[in-house]
Amino acid sequence: MAGEALTSNRTWNASAGLKQNKTNWLLVLSSHIANKIPLLVKNGESSVSRRMFDNAITHLKHADDALSARKMPKRPKNWGVEMDVVDENGKPIKKVKVRMCDATFADGSPQSLYYPEGHELAGVFTGMAVILHERGRADVSKVRAECPKFQCKKSINRCCCRSILYNEPYFVNVGSLLEIACEARGFRVIFFPKIHCELNFIEQCWGYSKRVYRELPVSSKEADFERNFLAVLESIPLFVGKYIFGSILLNIDPFDTRSLRFMDAYHKGLNGKQAAWASKQYRDHGVLPDTIMAELETAKLT
Ligand SMILES: [Zn+2]
Repeated sequence: MAGEALTSNRTWNASAGLKQNKTNWLLVLSSHIANKIPLLVKNGESSVSRRMFDNAITHLKHADDALSARKMPKRPKNWGVEMDVVDENGKPIKKVKVRMCDATFADGSPQSLYYPEGHELAGVFTGMAVILHERGRADVSKVRAECPKFQCKKSINRCCCRSILYNEPYFVNVGSLLEIACEARGFRVIFFPKIHCELNFIEQCWGYSKRVYRELPVSSKEADFERNFLAVLESIPLFVGKYIFGSILLNIDPFDTRSLRFMDAYHKGLNGKQAAWASKQYRDHGVLPDTIMAELETAKLT
């Protein structure tokens, strides 16, 4: 994986960022990605750069109108999805019903989920049966909308419309807001296990920064807090300005090397205690030697 050090990343205001609620936080993050991060597309070819995020709920949030078969009715109905209306501070004030976004056919053309103007049911949601029919699936008029409690039996093919639609191309792996924002800038996204102290090196950065923060003079003044907070971020031993709202621009650094070492240890079959020991023995290495099992035996750790 290639990473790029982007010096202009930390152009956000720390205190403003921390005042955001969870929904607003995601909007700020997506906006930051869209506006501050250089487009990584050159000569029509997308870069292989990745952006790493915690596997947090806010990072996995989909657009309110994102494609989803979860609540779709089978038959035509005045149906839509709920969307938050926010005030100027990004705070949700009410909900409105809007149309779900279009699906996509196999040839790349859009599939509207609502009857078009001029149709006797113009603007009405077509329903799962019509959606599947338009996508070339066999007649599902006699197939039930959903199995009881959506507990589908694996042995039965075409048990219910919702199950069939869930497995349709473009209905599976619908990107989150964060993935869409990153992909628009030419990045691909990798989600790390949330709060995992070994395999998620973002947590190691937080751990390091908290330790440095505790060593600074105590103060309850917001100005001191902001200055200390930024100083702590600067102190993280990475290349310049790589911390941005919980994501790390990947470069080789002590934390991701440590995570790589643990990944390699578990891949080689070591348990937690053995991995911790091996990680200390090979502190500067991203992978462990093939002789590691013999070394563990010598150290009486098998
Ligand atoms: Zn089913």
